[in-house]
Amino acid sequence: MSTATPDTIRQVVQEVLAQLGKAPKAAAPAPFKNGDWGVFQSVDDAVAAATEGFEQLSEAPMAARVTAIELVKQICETQAEELGRLEFEETKIGRLDHKIQKLKIIKLVPGVEFLRTDAKSGDHGITLTEYAPFGVIGAITPVTHSLPTLAGNVVNMIAGGNTMVVNPHPSGARIACEGVRRFNKAIHKATGLENLITIVEKPTLESAAAIFGHRGVKLLCVTGGPAVARAAMESRKKAIVAGPGNPPVVVDETACLENAAKSIITGAAFDNNLLCIGEKEVFAVEKIFDDLLAQMGRVGGYQLNPSQIDALTKIAFTPPKDAKDHYHVNKEFVGKDASYLAEMIGVKVPAGTELLYGETDESNPFVPEEQMMPFVPFIRAKNVNHAIDLALEYEHGFRHTSLIHSRNVRAMTKMGRAMDTTLFIKNGPSPAGLGLGGEGFLSFSIATPTGEGVTSPLTFTRQRRCVMVDELRVI
Ligand code: NAD
Repeated sequence: MSTATPDTIRQVVQEVLAQLGKAPKAAAPAPFKNGDWGVFQSVDDAVAAATEGFEQLSEAPMAARVTAIELVKQICETQAEELGRLEFEETKIGRLDHKIQKLKIIKLVPGVEFLRTDAKSGDHGITLTEYAPFGVIGAITPVTHSLPTLAGNVVNMIAGGNTMVVNPHPSGARIACEGVRRFNKAIHKATGLENLITIVEKPTLESAAAIFGHRGVKLLCVTGGPAVARAAMESRKKAIVAGPGNPPVVVDETACLENAAKSIITGAAFDNNLLCIGEKEVFAVEKIFDDLLAQMGRVGGYQLNPSQIDALTKIAFTPPKDAKDHYHVNKEFVGKDASYLAEMIGVKVPAGTELLYGETDESNPFVPEEQMMPFVPFIRAKNVNHAIDLALEYEHGFRHTSLIHSRNVRAMTKMGRAMDTTLFIKNGPSPAGLGLGGEGFLSFSIATPTGEGVTSPLTFTRQRRCVMVDELRVI
């Protein structure tokens, strides 16, 4: 570890950011071969540059990782308004205020301090277990949070000593590339390191496949829906897969209904329900069902009646083609505002309405499908056991996220065990599962089928054992 203190690192970071701010826009030519501050046209060039970047990072002191991460966090925080607006304008989904918020909270992603060395000493000497990098990591990022996912991955992966090649979602590629340019420029200025983050400017399924198969890529981390999760699991490389979810909420008769309603709105309305952890359907017991619906209306929700729900369902989904098919979400409604969805079915909602909701039965496609829009279906359950059974069925075994509002410890335990989800949140909104109002740290990549959980710097390290026989026992 170098002798640089946190204060000197902070000072360097601030000076670099101040100088970058003053520099004329088209100042120095890009210093990288064939690339534009980490943005490349081909996977081969990007991997070659990231490989060189990895060699440089491996030679650099740990303090260089700390500086790089601090710069990325500060850029996300201080430039959140501009970058969030660019992401919103490009992707046209979600909410501007939440796009900005998602960048500001990148500072909550843990860094180098998360790495630890384990040691064991005894009669036979001393053994250290060190957490070492993989090398170049191939990262696939979603459109729902293009730059936040990328930035969170950068912090985790560089903390672990790795460099990256990113294939962003084509509809969020411009902002992802802009972020990469800004991060690399700042890192280069402060540390001299180049190409710690590389990205394919015009990503396609072919460029994703090229990354999956590239010999220079040592590990994959994909964040996205079922198709990319499947493709990564089928690749021959080790893959960390942050896959899809369809988080159910159970509310029983012992719950605080005001807290339950507020929590459902907070989680499901966040970025218009784009988050994989966001509340997607509610199974509430008969005894409190009507009271819960009424409570939702008091805290920012707008209840649709059955014919309005029918109208919304018709425009929000394409029906299955045959018996083997399922309903498909119509992309044009994904991440749109509640007021927009309402307007599309001829309903005018009060200003400030964050979420639409209403009673449906299980057969409505809003229940099984991951709608990613601010309408949440509420389904009447006979009792809490019935509600848990339904939650289990409609989570589809993704083992991603589930929630319960209850004061009955038995019910909570039963659901926790039955669901077996990566995140299980009791009496709070879904973001509490990522340390936002709950305990714990943040990441935008929650590895579900492959089991790493909320990813951290340790996720992107290999354990290496270093053994000294006999001589180093000092007690
Ligand atoms: P998406 O699956 O359409 O795209 C995700 C990424 O995968 C994109 O970069 C896309 O280009 C790529 N991709 C898609 N199909 C591919 C294939 N066959 N081969 C290679 N690459 C492929 O998802 P999206 O709409 O961008 O994001 C929303 C989805 O991601 C939701 O299902 C959500 O639950 C999930 N998600 C999960 C997490 C998590 O941490 N578990 C986080 C965010 C989003």
